[in-house]
Amino acid sequence: MAVWRNWAGDQICAPARYEAPRDEDELRRLVADAAAAGQTLRAVGSGHSFTDAACTDGVMVSLDNMRGLIDVDRESGLVEVQAGVKLHELGDLLAQHGLAMENLGDIAVQGLAGAISTATHGTGLRYPNLSMQVGALRIVTASGEILTVDDSDPEVFRAARVAIGSLGVIASVTLRCVPTYVLRRVDEPVPLDEVLDTLAERVQREEHWEFFTFPYTGVAFTRTSTRADEPPRPASKAVHLLKDVAAENLVLGAICKAGKLAPSQVPKLNRTLPRLASREERLDRGDRVFANQRLVKFTEMEYAIPREHGAAAVRRILDLIEQRQLPITFPLEVRFAPPDDALIGPSHGRESCYIAVHTYRGTAFESYFRGVEAIMSSYGGRPHWGKRHYLSSAQLQERYPEWETFQSVRERLDPDGVFQNDYTRRVLGDVTARERSGTT
Ligand SMILES: Cc1cc2nc3c(=O)[nH]c(=O)nc-3n(C[C@H](O)[C@H](O)[C@H](O)COP(=O)(O)OP(=O)(O)OC[C@H]3O[C@@H](n4cnc5c(N)ncnc54)[C@H](O)[C@@H]3O)c2cc1C
Repeated sequence: MAVWRNWAGDQICAPARYEAPRDEDELRRLVADAAAAGQTLRAVGSGHSFTDAACTDGVMVSLDNMRGLIDVDRESGLVEVQAGVKLHELGDLLAQHGLAMENLGDIAVQGLAGAISTATHGTGLRYPNLSMQVGALRIVTASGEILTVDDSDPEVFRAARVAIGSLGVIASVTLRCVPTYVLRRVDEPVPLDEVLDTLAERVQREEHWEFFTFPYTGVAFTRTSTRADEPPRPASKAVHLLKDVAAENLVLGAICKAGKLAPSQVPKLNRTLPRLASREERLDRGDRVFANQRLVKFTEMEYAIPREHGAAAVRRILDLIEQRQLPITFPLEVRFAPPDDALIGPSHGRESCYIAVHTYRGTAFESYFRGVEAIMSSYGGRPHWGKRHYLSSAQLQERYPEWETFQSVRERLDPDGVFQNDYTRRVLGDVTARERSGTT
């Protein structure tokens, strides 16, 4: 592979080599050889990060040939799986054993290890990010050895749960799964002020609740998913493709294209959307309800802030857009998560409101995203590791109380920086410089 691109097509790199090992032994040899030759190495999943998290000019390792189930214990719900499995494949594999992941994000094409490594999350105050469903990891470290990480060594486990590929290559994951469940999803437009005024009650009441809001509309598109004691009623493939995939993506795509051509018309274009929306309901297997298909390409920033500031932050971002008349045709997406203990997970230690902002591919985003970042920073916001932001390690370390613990694990597992790339140097600092200066 001469050139690698992420899903959005705007992170590009030219790895020295691209490898896709078939098993753990091959993976171990690859890592050991790269380290011995003084090369750096990065694992890549599905390339669905908007940052350069997976980019490298060293060896790029894909686990696309390591996607199988290793062990299933239906009784305990513990499932070991090779780390390259895609989330949608995992959903099907688990369902064959009557099991499921308890929560997911809004797409399911990521690799399992890639999703875990950036703390990919869904929504719901009782449902933490995906890395918290991990019971153990097998990681190939810089020496080419396998390290099994679980809560018998809490420091390393909490570091490895969310590590942006900086501690080693995750070869397999043991997940704590739950019995398969059915979700009823209700999508409904509601006046935005009504939603923001009752945010706390809605989030506390519902299992999985989120909303989208397009600038200039004053409308929130709410999405509520609840476990249902009923058999699934999946729509036929044709109806699903037409209603959920084509309709949603075609309308959004058309508005984005029109807005790109005529930016001054964006407020008017956005205001057509609520007129097209109505109450929609789905009843299906949980993992299928969570997963959507995103066919319109975009780039994205997402921040986690303390939950209580959610409504104020949404109002400030919309004010920023409307006062500056920014031609933003994508919605804000607002989700929630409970506190977790991953050392550098964005919802570490606090109930969080996640606010994501997007722009259509090929349109200006930096001024908008920097404005949003300033707002989120005023609440001590922490960026999603897979989504655009402009912070450096010096700023980030102030926002994570256990930053130094993470760094000491990193120094232990990767003292020579085999797993570094430009992104980790920028956001985590250069581990070899820390070694030299004796920072602990
Ligand atoms: C359309 C779209 C929708 C999205 N929806 C959500 C959402 O709902 N919620 C959310 O939180 N995020 C969401 N994201 C972000 C996405 O979930 C994350 O960026 C995720 O990390 C992507 O997974 P990936 O497999 O593509 O990983 P990559 O982007 O390929 O890699 C991400 C990181 O994981 C590391 N990594 C990959 N494999 C391994 C391994 N085997 N061992 C060690 N490290 C590894 C890489 O080095 C890199 O640092 C979305 C992204 C897109 C494009």
